[in-house]
Amino acid sequence: MPIADRMIARVAAFAVIKDMFEEGRRLKAEFGPDNVYDFSLGNPDVPPPEEFRRILREMTAADGLDHGYAPVTGHFHVREALAGRLQEEQGIAIPPDLILMTVGAAGALNDILRALMNPGEEFVTPAPYFLGYENYAFLADVALVSAPTDARFHLDVAAIEKALTFKTRVVLINSPNNPSGAVYSPAELKALGDLLQRASARFGKRIYLVSDEPYRRIVYDVAVPAVFTAYPHSIVVNSFSKELSLAGERIGYLAVHPDADDAAQILAAAAAINSMSVVNAPGLFQQAAARVLGAAVDVSSYRRRRDLMAAALDDAGYQFTLPEGAFYLFPKSPIADDVRFTQILKEERILVSPGRAFGSPGCFRISYAVPEAVITGSREGFRRALQKAQG
Ligand code: PLP
Repeated sequence: MPIADRMIARVAAFAVIKDMFEEGRRLKAEFGPDNVYDFSLGNPDVPPPEEFRRILREMTAADGLDHGYAPVTGHFHVREALAGRLQEEQGIAIPPDLILMTVGAAGALNDILRALMNPGEEFVTPAPYFLGYENYAFLADVALVSAPTDARFHLDVAAIEKALTFKTRVVLINSPNNPSGAVYSPAELKALGDLLQRASARFGKRIYLVSDEPYRRIVYDVAVPAVFTAYPHSIVVNSFSKELSLAGERIGYLAVHPDADDAAQILAAAAAINSMSVVNAPGLFQQAAARVLGAAVDVSSYRRRRDLMAAALDDAGYQFTLPEGAFYLFPKSPIADDVRFTQILKEERILVSPGRAFGSPGCFRISYAVPEAVITGSREGFRRALQKAQG
């Protein structure tokens, strides 16, 4: 076998995703793109804010643009600007030296998990969770341990407590959540922070909280509370992939709470890994993003599509919780076998992802970052699929 033994199963897992993608392409070629309803991708489809596009035009038109290597931790003025924004969001002052510019939130998560965790240790994450977490666990040679959430996909702190062991190094949360759309409340975060204080004392080892927040600005009538005020031993991860629709430009960052145990060492370790793996976050785009920190994509277009999709599902008789943020819906599958149900939907030319890919069998994920016509066009198919599954 020409590849590493440990890669064989991972490549097979990727092949499943590739097959889904190919199947989508095949269906579109056979039936025409307007007759296939593809809700499988979490790729933002709204344009970046006009202000961002203007600044990028100005920057690229100027002479003497610097295309050299950037500092490993990111440009200082960019981290300084982010420190101001993080202070507003997190309610405490964060020195630019505790911020690291990364290759998207994915890069930040890979850096921080490898910085904090020894091979063989565990991180606990509530399910459903973003499927990338399994890959980051694989790369860091650590174990993902999932804990169930409540009926509305909110934190079940008692379930997290049960999942903690002497091997737990990190609890990783994601709010607004992909795929459920849940936004954890200040009370939930406080209860989690209290638990992690107690558990760290009990196991005689610091458990860190990593909060993955790339959908922070895509919320509907709720604000995303600060984790830094709930637990000092926290690291916030964020990116501009969703809030500025810059997913392909790979700009993200992480910030370590200044009162976290060994904060400076953690940042230095994460920066070393960043340097060893990717050298630095893309230079031009980190500077462009830092100039529009107050801007965000038009969230009202996501809200309209959320409401349209929710109405279609409701009419057809699906059970689901209305998302508070992000751009996904996570309805209950009408039959226990969610993979089988995604196949029934495919017979209606509707493409979605099975809940078990997110650690939650029995549900399925719809990404509504799609044109409104795709949602309206899919209504009858969703209805027929439910009837077929129940019939
Ligand atoms: N975390 C979550 C919850 C995500 O949904 C995604 C991407 O979809 C990422 C991290 C990775 O984002 P980025 O493009 O910033 O690397």
